[in-house]
Amino acid sequence: MTATPLPDAPRLPIRPELAHEEPYGAPQLDVPILLNVNENPYPPSEAVVADVAAAVAVATRGLNRYPDREFRKLRTALATYLERESDVGGLDADHLWAANGSNEVMLHLLQAFGGPGRTALSFAPTYSMYPEYARDTNTAWVAGRREEDFSLDPEAAAALLREVRPAVVLLPSPNNPTGTALPLDTVQHLLDVARTTGPDGAATVVVIDEAYAEFRRAGVPSALTLLGANPHLAVSRTMSKAFGLAGARLGYLAAAPALVDALRVVRLPYHLSAVTQAVALAALAHTDELMAQVASLRDERDALATWLLEHGLDAVPSDANFILFGKFTDRHAVWQGLLDRGVLIRETGPDGWLRVTVGTPQETAAFTQALVEVLG
Ligand SMILES: *Cc1c(COP(=O)(O)O)cnc(C)c1O
Repeated sequence: MTATPLPDAPRLPIRPELAHEEPYGAPQLDVPILLNVNENPYPPSEAVVADVAAAVAVATRGLNRYPDREFRKLRTALATYLERESDVGGLDADHLWAANGSNEVMLHLLQAFGGPGRTALSFAPTYSMYPEYARDTNTAWVAGRREEDFSLDPEAAAALLREVRPAVVLLPSPNNPTGTALPLDTVQHLLDVARTTGPDGAATVVVIDEAYAEFRRAGVPSALTLLGANPHLAVSRTMSKAFGLAGARLGYLAAAPALVDALRVVRLPYHLSAVTQAVALAALAHTDELMAQVASLRDERDALATWLLEHGLDAVPSDANFILFGKFTDRHAVWQGLLDRGVLIRETGPDGWLRVTVGTPQETAAFTQALVEVLG
């Protein structure tokens, strides 16, 4: 690519709202200790590798053909997994949808329910990708505020729903970057209000983004238990975090069949490759093994939170595989100091805070040691 445009080059008709935008993404740096994007530190076992590779070989023999557009086998396997993980009933392929990461699932949601003249709502601080889905689908974006402790005030949130009348409200639980889960009665209250707060008196689609749900503490329920009575609820999940398959790109959601049907309209044909379907199906057959480390990651998270508090820092109580901690007058200096010591974390969220992903015990030790040095 040449940096200097030709003198008579025509101007590209880029959408004005994109003209000065940079592509989103955390820095991908070559550093020994990567604790910046909430990945699972444990790679798949050799047994999983062998099964996934065999499934990919079978899929490869059919790659002259387009993949199964409806991927019902995978949707059934995901329904079975969710029923077991969250102890719910009544889910089948018609209730499930999947795409290349839950990022694409969210885009499908905004393509189907957002668009010009419509609004998407969330509550800051929250996942920094949400406004990008809104921008990319020409959906207006409104961010309310969370409370000082990063919880959501149900009445304030309900009032904003009535005022903004969003087509979609995006509520991560546990939230990123704070790790805070939503109590079910808050979700239920918002679902009640949302029945008529959408465009023209329709419902607002309530998206509970449960990307980190498998890391929740004992007794914290999933919004999946509310699906039956709420046709305007979508609960999204991913194989990127607890399953340790961020590189496979498989996100999914559960919702009433009518909501899923709306997503089937906007997806690109054959959006989920035969290879992706094969990888996800083979991996789901190894759920227990892939998730074997979730319990130890939870323990590791709780121990790290205690360590941070014991060292005089604030740590937001987390139901996810990361912790938001602080507060620093110069958080960038702390982030840089850690990086200089080979530890990459994330400079994100409200000013003064940093986010660290829970890694292996060795990685946590490297992080805490580096932090002690940096804070001197
Ligand atoms: C990591 C994350 C996701 C998952 O993204 P994928 O596209 O499935 O990898 C979704 N939502 C939130 C809030 C996340 O932090």
